[in-house]
Amino acid sequence: MNERISVVTGDITRLEVDAIVNAANTSLLGGGGVDGAIHRAAGPELLAECRRLGGCPTGEARITGGYRLPARHVIHTVGPVWRGGTHGERELLRSCYLNSLRLAEENGLASVAFPCISTGVYGYPKAEACEVAVDTVSEWLASHELPREVVFCCFTDSDAALYRARLTRE
Ligand code: ADP
Repeated sequence: MNERISVVTGDITRLEVDAIVNAANTSLLGGGGVDGAIHRAAGPELLAECRRLGGCPTGEARITGGYRLPARHVIHTVGPVWRGGTHGERELLRSCYLNSLRLAEENGLASVAFPCISTGVYGYPKAEACEVAVDTVSEWLASHELPREVVFCCFTDSDAALYRARLTRE
């Protein structure tokens, strides 16, 4: 397994990393799932900064401060809603990972944690999303120094098992 990648099960808002990634929606004004948890833990200053960003298209990413989170920054990315797999979902999900990693690199961040983007309310099948996540991050790390470390923060043990299986097969 790549020594720069780790898999944990738990709440991403608790992680002490340079940035946690938020599976946001295009408004960037908060929502349910991991997005709601991040806004609750970061406090109202995060929403105020997000308002100034004026939204984010699907597949792109934006960076803000982390406010009351242990993480210094939040990278907000908007995953695709699953519509059967024939509407460019795979490429859009890949772009979420790449654009988030690019922002981390541009901001000199060493450690970044990702949730399982799009696999909650947005309905992306978990195994397919895991393949995109692991393959895109592994490819990026092979040719970039930053971020040094990537954490896949899964909310369930079954998600974490998918990630470990994909990573040990690489
Ligand atoms: P999306 O709208 O992109 O599908 P969701 O927030 O509904 O986003 O779900 C994305 C993933 O985040 C799901 O796998 C869900 O289980 C997970 N999740 C929810 N809350 C947390 C949290 N506090 N920390 C880490 N992952 C979380």
